[in-house]
Amino acid sequence: MTTKPPSLDAQALRDLVNTSSPQKCQCALGPCAGWESMTEDRWPGPYMTAVGSLRADLAEGGNAAGSEPTFEEFHPQGTRYDSPLAPFAPQFFPCNRSDVFSCNRCQRVLLRYTEFGGYYVDHRVRALNADLVVDAPLPDAAA
Ligand SMILES: [Zn+2]
Repeated sequence: MTTKPPSLDAQALRDLVNTSSPQKCQCALGPCAGWESMTEDRWPGPYMTAVGSLRADLAEGGNAAGSEPTFEEFHPQGTRYDSPLAPFAPQFFPCNRSDVFSCNRCQRVLLRYTEFGGYYVDHRVRALNADLVVDAPLPDAAA
């Protein structure tokens, strides 16, 4: 029985980075400035500590719509999904499906989620950059 990691919001994310002192990564993850595909054998599990989750289903009472987290992405500056400068918007995809880890070796904070394709499962990892965290509200879920 594992305890659920606490659910995090934008401010909590920023605080995580502010309290750590990132160093040059010694582990196998590489820079991960944008979302990168990460096979399970490259994921240095023994060095990773789960510090929280952005998944909406862990939020108290679920999300407002009572349904799945959105697949909508947040790119007000014209960035793309895998851009190193794409914002971290916790309520938007893919942050809203991510768990948050800290690396014991390089002290970085990393987000990870799992993408389920037709024939494969793909882990995606991105190193958290506090400067890119935005507290963007979801558009009205009237659709
Ligand atoms: Zn590391």
